[in-house]
Parts: sequence; structure tokens; C-alpha cells
Amino acid sequence: MNIFSGFKELLGQINKLDGSIYLKGKDFADVYAKNIALEEEIAARTKELEQANQTILTLNSVWDMMNSSQPLSSMLDKIVSILHEDMNYHYAGILKIEYDENNNSYFSVKSSSSNKSIDKLFEIMNESLETYKLPYVSNSIVVKAISERQIFSTPDLKGIIKMFFPFFSDDQINYVMSEMNSKTCTVVPLYNGKEDFGCVIVSSDRDGITDTETNFLALFANQIELAITVAGLFEEVKKQAITDPLTGIFNRRYFEDNILKEAERSLRLKQPFSLISMDLDYLKKINDTYGHQFGDLAIKTIANVLKREARSIDIPARIGGEEFNLLLPGVDSRGAVIAAERIRKSIENQALDTIGGITASVGVATFLEHSDRIDELMELADQAMYKAKLNGRNQVQIAQKQNEINWQKVAVETFMDILTKKRIPVDDETARILNQKLQKIKSEDVNSKDVLYSIVDIISQTYNQMYKTGTTKSKIILAVMVAKKLDLPKDEIDKLKLAILLYDIGNIMIPEEIFNKKEPLTDEEKNLIKQHPVIAAREILKPISNIQDIIPIIESHHENWNGEGYPGKKSGIEIPVTSQIVLLVDAFYAMTQDRPYRQAYDIDEIVEIIKSESGKQWNEKLVEDFIYVVKNESIQ
Ligand code: GH3
Ligand code: MG
Repeated sequence: MNIFSGFKELLGQINKLDGSIYLKGKDFADVYAKNIALEEEIAARTKELEQANQTILTLNSVWDMMNSSQPLSSMLDKIVSILHEDMNYHYAGILKIEYDENNNSYFSVKSSSSNKSIDKLFEIMNESLETYKLPYVSNSIVVKAISERQIFSTPDLKGIIKMFFPFFSDDQINYVMSEMNSKTCTVVPLYNGKEDFGCVIVSSDRDGITDTETNFLALFANQIELAITVAGLFEEVKKQAITDPLTGIFNRRYFEDNILKEAERSLRLKQPFSLISMDLDYLKKINDTYGHQFGDLAIKTIANVLKREARSIDIPARIGGEEFNLLLPGVDSRGAVIAAERIRKSIENQALDTIGGITASVGVATFLEHSDRIDELMELADQAMYKAKLNGRNQVQIAQKQNEINWQKVAVETFMDILTKKRIPVDDETARILNQKLQKIKSEDVNSKDVLYSIVDIISQTYNQMYKTGTTKSKIILAVMVAKKLDLPKDEIDKLKLAILLYDIGNIMIPEEIFNKKEPLTDEEKNLIKQHPVIAAREILKPISNIQDIIPIIESHHENWNGEGYPGKKSGIEIPVTSQIVLLVDAFYAMTQDRPYRQAYDIDEIVEIIKSESGKQWNEKLVEDFIYVVKNESIQ
């Protein structure tokens, strides 16, 4: 604005002068000389004005460019070319501070105007401008300008060249500089909003640098800094981008963030969610036969099917090259299998250019059903997907809970052992029914858990006619809920399930002679009747190798917290907590059933009885949690 007011003042002076010619009749020659001087000044000011105008236009175009979302490198090139071509600098370059593997600083050339001398330098070195590492010399004018964030000029161009290319001899430098008629080199520091970025270096044929030029360069640097800062932020955002560029669906990072959030919500609300994991079949063959672009087409097709089939709250993601996941919030395994099947069919029905058809193998796992840990859930979904591959591809498989497979397998093997080795005295008909059931499990098209429960129901009914079908399943459900309330680890819960299936098996061994005894039982005989089932269970199970760690649970399932139980009169923490749960679940279901000598109790009565035994038969915390479960969870 100084230029404008100066110009105005000048015009005022001219007007005054014009007046004085007529008014005062001054000497013509004198006026003429003054006029010439004034005209010269007008020309100089006009030039300044033009330059200011040019500066504004230049800054304006830098600003426009920054809003055009060009990549940083092309922006820097444009800035350098504006400095070189429009602002008449002989040379303009942008240097960036970098760090090598030893954390030593150097400069890289981010952009450079064409310049014969510089070109010659690199020609001699046989090196490219893009890869050359310019030394970072601490006491140099360049580093000083950057660290002090001030613009510095020097007439010592050779000094700067020597610093950046220390292996050149003076002669070589003289030769290179012969075409360079710059007189001043100026270093303008650049800061990216977080740290020193580097600098702009310009050279001109002017002697030194005026305040106007310094101001202009400072303004220009501001624009570059803005561009660098925006580009840095953009890089950051790009890193965190949530979509996969090929398919437009979410990427792995986004998926992983969200499955964690979903797990939190699921645990809080006790609501399941499902994970569908799929892999394109035979992609390698597609790539090999038709080329990579058709492989990409197959990948995009799957992504499009997922996009189309997913609800708005579902999260479809490309996890790897040909691997996709779909997260289904609030959906249980039944719903997920239906969705997975629909997607599989839809993929199968796509007609693709050149390739024809494609298929995918699909695995399904459900949080809270198959696992309550994310890593395990993903692993299980993946395993299910591999099972689909192994079974012939183009199909859906549901996850198998690892631990569940194990405890059920152990249970099946145990019952087979018990029956084939005739470890319990069951009649031929019962043995035949039980064997038939076990054979069914082998064929795998039945729910093995339910078969196991019914086997235990049948065995229990041989010695207890009051034992209702379905009780074993209810016992397991209740025991597991209590164990979870107590935060028992998974393997303990699995042992507990086996213990529930096996703890009562010794009842079948109560000697008939005691049962049939006419005379009143002695105390000793009464004790035997009490203790025998526990001892018998141990004897039955002892030869079966893979349930050895269940036996101690069964052995202690009649011990009382206060030490008044049997057979070992153990107390407190000597008794496994799983044994205490077995005793409690057993007592609970005994009280829900009629007995020859009493009617079944109702729930409130049972709760009162159990409460009254708190600290006696059972530890207080267990009783508290048990009552909570019985009152708050829906138990069958
Ligand atoms: P399978 O049915 O067992 O999954 O066989 P497959 O050939 O599909 O799987 P395999 O793991 O043997 O090979 C996967 C191939 O997918 C190898 C890899 O080159 C290719 N691939 C991975 N990502 C991409 C991609 O983005 N585009 C293309 N066209 N191919 C990809
Ligand atoms: Mg594949």
C-alpha cells in the first residue's frame, strides 16, 4: 500500500507543479528539468507497482494451485518454476531435511529449476538430482537460515556449491560456474507447522537483496509452508484412510478397529455378532489363465456382492488380496449362516466378462457363541473357511468351538469306553440304546451335545426313576452360567461340563445287598451308601486315561466348605471350586424334583435352603453368585 500512497502523492505533486507553471510563470527550462525528473520517478514507481502486482498475481496462483489438490511434488515444481520463470530468479530449488539410517541429517532436492551449471554438476558426478544427498553442514548459511528461521543472502555462490558438492575441485567449480552469472544467493527457511522442513534457495543477478524482495520471499515461503503442512496432514489422513482403493469397501485397518468396538458392545449388551470370512476360489488360476486384470475383476465382483448384500450397519472389508470379511452386528450364527449362504449363491450367479463364473469359500463364526475373544473368533472363522476349501470350495462352513470339540470328544470317548468295557452294569437293552446313540455322534449329522445329555439322562434313569429327561442339559447350562459368573477360565469350565456328565455315574454301582437289606442299616452301612457312589465313580473312571483331571473334581463333589462333607472331610480352598459347583447344581436339581418322601420345592424355598447353607456346605461367594444366576438368568 506504500507504493499506492507514494504514487498518489506523486500525482498530487505533478498537479501542483502544473498550477505553478501558469500561476507563477517560472522559467521553462527549469520546469522541463523538473518534469523529466518526475517522469523518471513515475516510471520507477510504476515499475514497482507492476512488480507488486506481479507478486500478488504470483501468490494468487500459488494459492489457486494449493486449492487444486495436486500432489505435493507437482506443487513444489510449480512453485520453483514460478520463481524461476515469472520472478526471474536464475535458479530456484527446494531442499528438504532428511535422515539416513544412522539418524544423520542431509538434504534431498525436492524440486529444482533447470540450470545449466547445476546440470553440468550432476553430469560430472553421473548422479541424479533426485537421489543425491546434499551434506547438512551445521555452521553453513543454509542451516543457519533454517534453524534461525530467517532469510539470509550471500554473494558467495561458490562457497555454497563447494559445501553441497565437497568433492569438486576449485577448477571444476570454476568451470561449472562459468555460465552462472548470479551475484546473490538467498536461503529462505521452510517450516511445516511441526518441524523444520528445509529451505528454498534462489539466486539472482542483483547485488544483495532489498527489503521488498525479502518481504516477497517471506510471503512466498508462507504459501509453500502452507502447501507442505497441508500435504503432511493429507499424508496422515491417507495413512488412516478407511477404504480399499481397488474395491471401495473398507480396508483391514478399519475392519479391525470396528470389530474391537463391536466386541466391546457385544460383551456389554450380551448380544452376539457374527463374522463371515471368505476367500475367492482359484484366483491364481484366473490370474494365470486370463491375466491379472481379470483377477482384479473377480475381486471387485466379490466386493460388489458384499456391498449389495450387506445391511447398512454391516461392515464389508477387504482383508487381504482375495480375502474378505463381513461383520454382522447383532446377528447370531443361524442368521449369519443364512446371510453367508445368500452371499455365496449371489457370487456363484455373477456372470463375469471372459472369466464366466467365480465361487468363494465361506466361514462363519459368532462372537459369544463360538468365542468371546476377538483373536480366537477370527481364527475360528478362518478355520471354518479353510474347512470349506478342504470340503471342495464354494460352500459355507460354521466354526467349531475348539474347546467344545475337545470336551465333547472326551465325553464321547469316555462313554464308549464305559460301555464297551462294561464298566457299569446296565441291561442289554439300555446298552444297545446307548451304543446306538454314540454311533450316531460319529456320523456327525447330529448335535453331539444333545446326544451326550440324553445318554446321561438314560443312565441316570436306570438308578433314579424320578430323573427327568432334559435335566442333564439344564444342569450343564446352570453350572456354566455360575462358572462364568465366577470368572472361571475356559478349560476349567470344560472340565466342569465333563464332571457334570460323569459325577453321578457311581450311583449305578450301589450294591444291591445293601439296598435289599431287611434290617435297619448300621451307621457304617449308611456311610457306605453315602460314600460309595463317589468311590465307585473314581473306580469306574480311573482306567480312562483322558479324564484323569476330572476325577479329583468328582471325588470332592460331596465335600463341604466347613469340612463336614465326605469322603475326605476337606474344607475351604482344599475343595476345587468346580466340585462346589457340582454339589450345588446337584442339590438344586434334586430339590426341583419330587422324591418318594417329599414334593419338589419351589424356587423361593430352594433359594432359602441354599442361603441357609452358605458358609456351611458352600462358600459364601459361590452361594451369592449362584442365587444371582438363578434369579436373574433364564434357566431351563
Ligand atoms: P484357493 O481356492 O485355495 O483360494 O486358491 P487360490 O489360487 O485362489 O489361492 P492361492 O492362495 O493359491 O493364490 C492366491 C493368489 O491370488 C495369489 C496372488 O497372486 C493372487 N492375488 C492376491 N491379491 C491379488 C490382487 O489384488 N489381484 C489379483 N489379480 N490377484 C491377487
Ligand atoms: Mg483364494
